[in-house]
Amino acid sequence: VIPIHRKPLAKYGGRHTVTVLPGDGIGPEMMAHLKRIFTFAHVPVDFEVLDIGSRDLSDSALDNAIIAIERNGVALKGNIETKFDDPQFKSRNMELRRRLDLFANILHCKTVPTIPVRHKEIDIVLIRENTEGEYSGIEHQSVKGVVESIKVVTRQKIEQIATLAFDFALANNRKKITAIHKANIQKLGDGLFLKVCREMAETKYKDVKFEHMIVDNASMQLVSRPEQFNGGILLMPNLYGNIISNIACGLVGGPGLVSGMNLGKKYAVFETGTRNTGTSIAGKDVANPTAFIQAAIDMLRYVDEPLHADRLTTALYNTLIVKKIHTADIGGTAKTSEIIEGVIDELKQIFDKEHVH
Ligand code: ADP
Ligand code: MG
Repeated sequence: VIPIHRKPLAKYGGRHTVTVLPGDGIGPEMMAHLKRIFTFAHVPVDFEVLDIGSRDLSDSALDNAIIAIERNGVALKGNIETKFDDPQFKSRNMELRRRLDLFANILHCKTVPTIPVRHKEIDIVLIRENTEGEYSGIEHQSVKGVVESIKVVTRQKIEQIATLAFDFALANNRKKITAIHKANIQKLGDGLFLKVCREMAETKYKDVKFEHMIVDNASMQLVSRPEQFNGGILLMPNLYGNIISNIACGLVGGPGLVSGMNLGKKYAVFETGTRNTGTSIAGKDVANPTAFIQAAIDMLRYVDEPLHADRLTTALYNTLIVKKIHTADIGGTAKTSEIIEGVIDELKQIFDKEHVH
């Protein structure tokens, strides 16, 4: 259950328009694959593609992307490469999330049968504050050799993300919330995060079990005994959320598998969980398209097309798990295009069974 009550989305003649930001690296080829799948499956979604990425890093490209998402309400997104060396240049990915107020990032890291992992069953939901903290983007050099990076946290944003997490726990029957922090060192900033989460657990959400864990220990626990978090939610401020999410995605098979939802009160952007560009594997037909397909499935649920989401879920499941068509990142030898063909093949069979075609 996606935990946001949104306004009705733009829909013309029974079709949705979704903004597509292919981004860099493998993003454009993944979007082309999704388009092909959608067309084959008669999914009533039109892509409005905007070229924002290292081909056009201008402010107007970013503004246009934001206007398009404000109009359509929903976007599918590849990651945009961020230059490291220019302090004036803010990450487009971050700017987008901040300006659209996509305050929540939600990932579901779950082991997939037949995909080799080091641990047995893993089933963890990660909910991360997505707009403030270390990502506030306020930095300056006060005197030569002294840099101040300012981490801003607000009670309002903490309450917002904690409320979403507790509501998510109730709606999706997740047993426990573990707040991740470093309040022993960041007494005020992380202290406030912990305090707000704890207050909420003790007053409004007594039925959800609440624990907290310091981020360093949580990192160790995740790689040594991750099953202790199964069935629960990790609730995290922005930067710890980024790092812990990558650990959790690594546990279940890496950057090619897990999708990530970015949700605000008004808009939603769907992308991969670990937000890689995959620049080094672009154009080689080797990337694992699963995370992108999963992001598209999340998007279909968000725009209330459960039938299409279910068909695609079944097709992906049969391709990956029943037929064991796996790309190299998860130990297989299949190309990206073989997964896509597999999914289309499965969709064909689903339609045959439904007598739709
Ligand atoms: P790069 O941009 O150099 O490829 P990233 O940080 O984007 O690096 O990605 C980290 C690693 O994950 C890289 O080795 C990349 O090839 C791999 N990777 C990212 N996305 C995928 C994917 N969809 N399938 C397989 N490997 C991926
Ligand atoms: Mg990259």
